[in-house]
Amino acid sequence: MEKLHIKEKLHLKESAPGELSIDVANVELLEKASNEGIKTVFDREKDQEPHCSYCVEGVSCRICLMGPCRITKKADRGVCGATGDTMVARGLLRNVSGGAAAHLDHARHAALILLEAAEGKVPYEIKDEKKLRTIAKALGIKGDGKKDLAIKVAKKALEDLGRQEPNETLAWLKMHAPEERIETWRNLGVLPVGGDRTITESMHRTTMGSDADPVNLLLGAIKSALVDGYAGLHMASDIQDILFGTPTPKMSKASFGVIAEDHVNIAVHGHVPILSEKIVEAADRLQKEAKKEGAKGINVVGICCTGNELLMRQGIPIAGNELNSELAIVSGALEAMAVDIQCIYPSVTKVAEGYHTKIITTSPIAKIPGAEHIEFEESRADEVADEIVRKAIKNFKNRDPDKVQIPNITTEAMVGFSVESIVDVLAKISPEDPLKPLVDNIANGNIKGAVAIVGCNNPKVKHDFMHVRIAEDLIKNDILVIATGCAAIAHAKGGLMSPEGYKKAGKGLQAVLKVLGEAAGVEALPPVLHFGSCVDNGRIGVLLKALSDKLGVPIKDLPVAASAPEATTEKALSIGTWAVSLGVTTHVNPLPRITGSAAVTKLLTKDIESLLGAKFIGGSNPHEVAKTLKKHIEEKRKKLGLAA
Ligand code: SF4
Ligand code: SF4
Repeated sequence: MEKLHIKEKLHLKESAPGELSIDVANVELLEKASNEGIKTVFDREKDQEPHCSYCVEGVSCRICLMGPCRITKKADRGVCGATGDTMVARGLLRNVSGGAAAHLDHARHAALILLEAAEGKVPYEIKDEKKLRTIAKALGIKGDGKKDLAIKVAKKALEDLGRQEPNETLAWLKMHAPEERIETWRNLGVLPVGGDRTITESMHRTTMGSDADPVNLLLGAIKSALVDGYAGLHMASDIQDILFGTPTPKMSKASFGVIAEDHVNIAVHGHVPILSEKIVEAADRLQKEAKKEGAKGINVVGICCTGNELLMRQGIPIAGNELNSELAIVSGALEAMAVDIQCIYPSVTKVAEGYHTKIITTSPIAKIPGAEHIEFEESRADEVADEIVRKAIKNFKNRDPDKVQIPNITTEAMVGFSVESIVDVLAKISPEDPLKPLVDNIANGNIKGAVAIVGCNNPKVKHDFMHVRIAEDLIKNDILVIATGCAAIAHAKGGLMSPEGYKKAGKGLQAVLKVLGEAAGVEALPPVLHFGSCVDNGRIGVLLKALSDKLGVPIKDLPVAASAPEATTEKALSIGTWAVSLGVTTHVNPLPRITGSAAVTKLLTKDIESLLGAKFIGGSNPHEVAKTLKKHIEEKRKKLGLAA
């Protein structure tokens, strides 16, 4: 194994592990990694410092071969004549479109599986017929039975992705977006025709010599974000619920302590439940084979969003979020890490060289040098899942006990909320009008408002620090937090989803959580509700629309906000832009690469509010951010005539 040289060692010394993460289990394994000469994302981030200031501010461009160009004191335009404003807006549009493309492809995969499952071509079931019927009805689809409806819903989804005809928009957008928003977007000229067409158009308009108008480019970013919101997030979430079941609340565990020393451990990492659900089934089938190899059984743990998918539907424990992913391998107790798509650091194979862990890639579009590739052909899903699990079982004997160190830390977490499951709980209190108790408690101030804390980890930000501290401050002030993605995993590890979590909330919110808990058969609901993976941000859209319809108040006027306080991916920027387009003011940290253009920064953090009723805000101090979000919610309450 390659040893770190002195300079590299200094990086960890400069920032002691405890300064890099508030997750104590992560800190323990960071120290182990450092002692064993294993470089992780935390070291590599330091290697990249200082980041190029032109790139950080967005005033650089390498779209064509006349460049790369940057805006400097002596050059106020790129070779083609593009200004800094153009570069910044063009870069943001490309980022948002990149994020949207990832979610669109995810949704397409789910739609194809639904179609093929209904046609009997792949071994997947339709587990939630009720959801299928709800979605079919909302899409105006009539059909004879489950299979017929599933085929029609899947084809409608594929139609949305591929639509070319002008003067039409996404069926999923018409199903889930409020009328008021559709009108707003129509007036701005940003209603998308079809998913793929919008992404192609975005790539086209950002080539050299095409769209140079920053305002027009930002409108393009809104269009791409709408495609993400409806043909990405909502579509993927709806179809995955149909295939695998709509989540219901359940207890599970989070943090590295969920890795079991006496079991064959398989981590599933990535995004799509199509692989991970099958790994769980295969693990159940092959328990006996693991016992023959001397293990007590097979233990599947989740990482990142595919982990969230299993956590919310099956209660499969979650080992960690994005910045935990390499360190799960450093525990020395993972027999295999099976990955699908998105957010898988290519370095996992390098880290795994120091241990016995097999990294198994499965997607034809996400291969990693050094990994074993077992293509996940869905028609042979069970067979392939068995093959992956057997590889892990056979690898158990290769584990080096001297290298095993599993932090003895787990946190209890109540997870798996969906709009449907919340309505079910509320219906126990108010069967005739389930949303009434929620609305009443918002009106009387027990719940001041709600903030969605979403998105990634980023090694530029102390791991989990922003996610947890912002949430703690908000719940103390009776602001309910809803969480998805790596943020949700941070909250689960941080104890904010535990049965005791409600005690950290303000008195008003505590009272509501207790009443809801009683209805759900537990002492209290947690003050941070686990709403699933990144694509499940669509669920937040469903909840907002339901509240908006119930109150007769547009989403932009509701006492709500969003925050992606440790944002990393293009997907986070795309989701954030969708949230702002929906009328939800959204905090993003670190800021996207816009600060090199005063005009674009002003547009996104100020002027956009007059168009959409929401804007972006920045901020890297969690307590200040929480104060800003609280103030925003109080202002919205005042405008609604409610006591702040
Ligand atoms: S598109 Fe213009 S600004 Fe960008 S690299 Fe080419 S010449 Fe430079
Ligand atoms: S929250 Fe961000 S880093 Fe985490 S899985 Fe989702 S996109 Fe990836």
